[in-house]
Amino acid sequence: MVIVKTAREISLMKDACRISANALELAGEYVKPGISTAEIDEKVRKYIEKQGATPSFLGYGGFPASACISVNDVVIHGIPSKDTILKEGDIVSVDVGAFYNGYHGDNAFTFACGKVSETARKLMDATRESLTKGIEAALAGNRVGDIGNAVQQYVEARSYSVVRDFVGHGVGAKLHEDPSIPNFGRAGHGVRLLPGMTIAIEPMVCEGDYEVEVLEDDWTTVTCDGKLAAHYENTVAITPDGPVILTVAG
Ligand code: MG
Repeated sequence: MVIVKTAREISLMKDACRISANALELAGEYVKPGISTAEIDEKVRKYIEKQGATPSFLGYGGFPASACISVNDVVIHGIPSKDTILKEGDIVSVDVGAFYNGYHGDNAFTFACGKVSETARKLMDATRESLTKGIEAALAGNRVGDIGNAVQQYVEARSYSVVRDFVGHGVGAKLHEDPSIPNFGRAGHGVRLLPGMTIAIEPMVCEGDYEVEVLEDDWTTVTCDGKLAAHYENTVAITPDGPVILTVAG
């Protein structure tokens, strides 16, 4: 069931989204060679808790950490570990959510660890821009397929691929709500976007093929071909005046 929120509910949700965005920005400040992903996760958890909020991911479906931290060929759902030490040239996707005043915010960003290769930089830039294209298509009256199509067209025109097995989602009182927001699809198809819907748009883009595999820990999702992947996400409100990004740091 698609949930449409009032302007007041969306305004409440902005606080959770701001905390999420600040936590993500903070994580990015710690992405440096030599740090473990567990240390970054710890910074994120402490920040969120200090705001009186709860990390959305901690314990969600049994997930053992506050942030998903996914390095290089890990697409999403990387489990922070003291044994995963970042090194120069890594690309590090951090996904983090916060629950506050009854609502979740959800966002992700792929950070460069030191200086990254030209290949990595181009993938990151294209993925980030594909999120912008998806958000621009999130207009009231459009359909979910318009978002996916905008992302897919942009990505595939650059010879990258879009992950099929994982998609964006509605977000609000629950971390994952209807509808699903695939990063691929046919323009003009799917659920109609209505003012008051709040959705997480989150392109996961692969340097090579889009086939992914979940490892034995049941979380860590890697590209099957071992090539790089990037992931950017914002929580966005559909409004009569156009899409509004809620996950803004400040
Ligand atoms: Mg999400």
